[in-house]
Amino acid sequence: MARHLITSAIPYINGIKHLGNLVGSQLPADLYARYQRARGNEVMFLCATDEHGTPAELAAAKAGKPVADFCAEMWAVQAEIAKGFRLSFDHFGRSSSPQNHALTQHFAGRLADAGLIREVSEKQVYSNADGRFLPDRYIEGTCPNCGYDKARGDQCENCTKQLDPTDLINPRSAISGSTDLEVRETKHLYLRQSDMRGKLQEWIDSKTDWPILTTSIAKKWLNDGDGLQDRGITRDLDWGIPVKKGTEEWPGMEGKVFYVWFDAPIEYIACAGEWAEAHGKTDADWERWWRTDKGAEDVRYTQFMGKDNVPFHTLSFPATILGSGEPWKLVDYIKSFNYLNYDGGQFSTSQGRGVFMDQALEILPPDYWRWWLLSHAPESSDSEFTWENFQTSVNKDLADVLGNFASRVTKFCRSKFGEAVPEGGTPGDREATLIQALDAGLVEYQTHMDNIEVRKAAAALRALWAMGNEYLQDVAPWTTFKEDPDAAAMQIRIALNLVRFYAAISSPFIPDASAQLLTAMNADDATWPQDVASAITALPVGHSFAVPEVTFRKISDEERVGWQDQFAGVRA
Ligand SMILES: [Zn+2]
Repeated sequence: MARHLITSAIPYINGIKHLGNLVGSQLPADLYARYQRARGNEVMFLCATDEHGTPAELAAAKAGKPVADFCAEMWAVQAEIAKGFRLSFDHFGRSSSPQNHALTQHFAGRLADAGLIREVSEKQVYSNADGRFLPDRYIEGTCPNCGYDKARGDQCENCTKQLDPTDLINPRSAISGSTDLEVRETKHLYLRQSDMRGKLQEWIDSKTDWPILTTSIAKKWLNDGDGLQDRGITRDLDWGIPVKKGTEEWPGMEGKVFYVWFDAPIEYIACAGEWAEAHGKTDADWERWWRTDKGAEDVRYTQFMGKDNVPFHTLSFPATILGSGEPWKLVDYIKSFNYLNYDGGQFSTSQGRGVFMDQALEILPPDYWRWWLLSHAPESSDSEFTWENFQTSVNKDLADVLGNFASRVTKFCRSKFGEAVPEGGTPGDREATLIQALDAGLVEYQTHMDNIEVRKAAAALRALWAMGNEYLQDVAPWTTFKEDPDAAAMQIRIALNLVRFYAAISSPFIPDASAQLLTAMNADDATWPQDVASAITALPVGHSFAVPEVTFRKISDEERVGWQDQFAGVRA
């Protein structure tokens, strides 16, 4: 039994994510986790919320809540939506957990001991009225370029010019509005990533099987311009993980926290500790996934993320792990995704353009979204959601091909033979051809799933469903029945077994439909089929079943047009 550690990029806490976010990490990670479990492998699938940093503070302030309360509430909202999409995390953690506090401080201490951290003095804007340093986006003023009076310290939203806080005319605090600001000196810690460039280069060069999207981004950051830069890992904020050297105080760093990008990936590890605590397990139970000196040497670790997260996962996080000098598990394979666009433009959180995860579940069950998103995953290039394409895909693939097959077969059997697998007849050449084609198709499907080629896997699965339909069209048991009821019984026996076979192999994509069909077929055994010949005799003669309720309903033109309007922009 192989062991798979799987993580999805952790979604930021400040709001509900859209479908583009979902298909870029959590959903394909879930597909892979479900597939590996179905193949009988041991899986640890982890995700969490990313809770620190300025945007969380701002969102909490906007909601009028203490930031800790805001994060706790938003974690619960995101956890519930994840359940709604059937994301099968072994644990959905929080980067603000005590485990992540301790581990982040531990890594910082190890890096300092290894000489990989340096202190840098910087000048930053301090607000006397607020009693704190202000990060760039906490400072507002008039844009020197266009005169817009609500430009932020990092960028003018109106003319998009990149700014420094000191460029602003009449600068003021975005928190209190105070203009009593001054520039003060403050100290920060930098991770000496530049010292680790050789080690990182060597490690990335050894990953010859990674997708080009992943390695090209990593190499660009390693080599472009002056090469990999040192990175600030601390901030002057209240909300975050206090800067400590392991369990010791860090002189001169009092009142500062680690930068969110330093602690967020460490949460992948801490999350396993949270899983252990939540399930009454020991440290040894989670360390066997993460420490190569404690049982993780045979673990295969796969990460899923959007392309914007690749630099942090190929460079910054590995720098933390390699720099610690401790035997933590490094990632074996990074699956990265391009962007999903929405109906001729982009998803926009601020403008409410596109479908957000909560809204999606309000209008259709999760399998409809899972199927479309995965079968159109933005792998080799960006892809686009359109309502026409969504309607076609649901109506054809799910309703016509899979759903209709199960419905026709079970209804026909009920009317002619009753609600049990009928006896009689002997399979012939057409059935042998079918089995051969299904066997080859199953191997192809598995190969794509093993290689995490999501779109190709979806196409291979759909082709397997289509083979059942073609068989049914060819042999036409409703016609056969009139002249040779025994032959029709044999054909239907095979088709009923195909329903169970399809349910078993489709579960990573459409878990609810799969469960519904297995229940209808009264099948306890949902294990992954070893070969098709035995899979299509698994339900024996006399085995009872029920006609399933509608597995997938069709989307009408009226609905499509209505939704197109509803999600065009300006979310309340
Ligand atoms: Zn401007």
